Amino acid sequence: MKIYVVGLGPGGPEQMTNRAQEALRKSDILVGYTLYIDLIKDQFPDKKFIATPMKKEVDRCRTAVEKALEGATVAVVSSGDAGVYGMAGIVLELAEPYPFLEVEVIPGTTAACSGAAVLGAPLIHDFAVISLSDLLTPWEKIEARLAAAAQGDFVIVLYNPSSIKRHDYLKKACDIVMRHQDADLPAGIVRSIGREGENYEIVSSLTELREKKVDMFTTVIIGNSQTRVINNKLVTPRGYKK
Ligand code: SAH
Repeated sequence: MKIYVVGLGPGGPEQMTNRAQEALRKSDILVGYTLYIDLIKDQFPDKKFIATPMKKEVDRCRTAVEKALEGATVAVVSSGDAGVYGMAGIVLELAEPYPFLEVEVIPGTTAACSGAAVLGAPLIHDFAVISLSDLLTPWEKIEARLAAAAQGDFVIVLYNPSSIKRHDYLKKACDIVMRHQDADLPAGIVRSIGREGENYEIVSSLTELREKKVDMFTTVIIGNSQTRVINNKLVTPRGYKK
């Protein structure tokens, strides 16, 4: 009777930690969003899988708690880190009435870090992570956070930069940042990190970035006033060379 909440890292099994692999091996049932279950299915042929589509997060975690209460060892999987826009919080909330039920959260590499590695070294110093999804956060709050991060000259990592309904949100985000920062901040776009078709693009200004097409498998990193492009990589110097 146990639940592991496991961050799988950005892509396939080679991006997973040993601790995550071990938790999946020890589990009887693996529960997650269909796409992530598909990424790990072949590696664990003897497991039971419960795969549900997007927006069924609460049902999925409730099922996990029920199965664990029946005696199974269950792994709830999230891509990246399960505690960053992932399932760790909701599992702990749903397990609140059952303090005897052990929940172990296992970290994974979040898209900010795996994406930064593809782009170079843009995070090195203080950075802010902001999701542009307004499904669970009012857009006004997202705008306020973007403005505050830009005022603080933080490097800004954008998760969920677009969806079918929110196709112009990256444009809006760039416009807010440009009110507080120079338009010529460099930025990076990285798609399908650790998965088939991984690719990245560096742009030298926010005016360029605001015109880019992004999707839900994209992470965007906007540099700060110190960030430079070095040999087509995005680098925020930490200041060692001074
Ligand atoms: N728990 C995840 C984040 C889930 S929110 C993590 O820690 O990485 C979903 C958003 O994360 C996507 O819209 C995208 O912005 C980013 N993301 C997650 N995996 C990604 C990947 N493999 N490549 C690019 N972006 C990714």
